[in-house]
Amino acid sequence: MKKISLIFCTLIMTIFIFPIQEITAAEKSSEDIYKERMSLYKDMEAITQVPWYWLAGVDAYERGLRRARKDRDESQGVINIYFSPKEWAGPLNPDLDSEDPFANSLFEGIGLDGNENGKASLNEDADVLYTFANYLSGYGHDDDNIQIGLWEYYHRDQAINIITGHARIFRKYNRIDLDDEHAFPVPLNYNYSYRSTWGDKRGWGGRRIHEGTDIFADYRTPVRATSHGIIELKGWNKFGGWRIGIRDLSNTYNYYAHLSGFEDGVEKGDIVAPGDVIGYVGSSGYGKPGTEGKFPPHLHYGMYRDNGYSEWSFDPYSSLKSWEKQDRK
Ligand SMILES: [Zn+2]
Repeated sequence: MKKISLIFCTLIMTIFIFPIQEITAAEKSSEDIYKERMSLYKDMEAITQVPWYWLAGVDAYERGLRRARKDRDESQGVINIYFSPKEWAGPLNPDLDSEDPFANSLFEGIGLDGNENGKASLNEDADVLYTFANYLSGYGHDDDNIQIGLWEYYHRDQAINIITGHARIFRKYNRIDLDDEHAFPVPLNYNYSYRSTWGDKRGWGGRRIHEGTDIFADYRTPVRATSHGIIELKGWNKFGGWRIGIRDLSNTYNYYAHLSGFEDGVEKGDIVAPGDVIGYVGSSGYGKPGTEGKFPPHLHYGMYRDNGYSEWSFDPYSSLKSWEKQDRK
């Protein structure tokens, strides 16, 4: 009897307990994830004096890189800063999986023990975040010195621009749960129509494929920011006409073209929130500054992903559909 009940127990455990554990791990609510992240940022600020919003900015940038790249696995924890085993353990360390902080530093690996459990583990959020915060604090704690530290780490102006933008947004709102807030680019109570047109042969000249979705609407229909972000670019472009570009917290560049004009007071460098009006639908472009009317009025909406080296266009249609649905609620 005992044997049978033991087998039965094992069976029950295998069938029920393991799958349940998996589900709970995967179902960590986004609210819990944000809370966990924020408390890690604050903990590491207390230890290293690096302001939490800089750590949040770097982490958001690296989260975007992981999403955009195939050579980096998804993070097992809530922090997304990436170190290769070689960087972590040291290039000449015979044990690239080393979690020994002394061995790591001996072989000039960066990996440190942030939660004081004696291990420097790439799988522990506190260790990963502490390692980066400690690196930055070596340059200083004010914005200028942190930017110098970031330059020495990434050697890429655009990485520093993007991270600085993220940090400014987090600092302004004093919270980080901003990723899930979006708006459709035109108010739903205006007349508009769109279909999936990404990848089409360009409708109005040009040799490249159509890198966006066209939303047809009347002149002067308001155009809104779709995400939290920073206005990275504003002005005239030969094909795009009056156009504006917003860098969001996933590093995506959101491109709005053919506007009739910009909203008053909207300037390069401004922080925008989903739903903020940034301009108005028009038909500008395909000529010298001010050219308009060469095609029907519409908003050209494009999205460009950044992988840390370059940017490329991806189809915004499914994002537009889901934001439209959220706005309807
Ligand atoms: Zn277009």
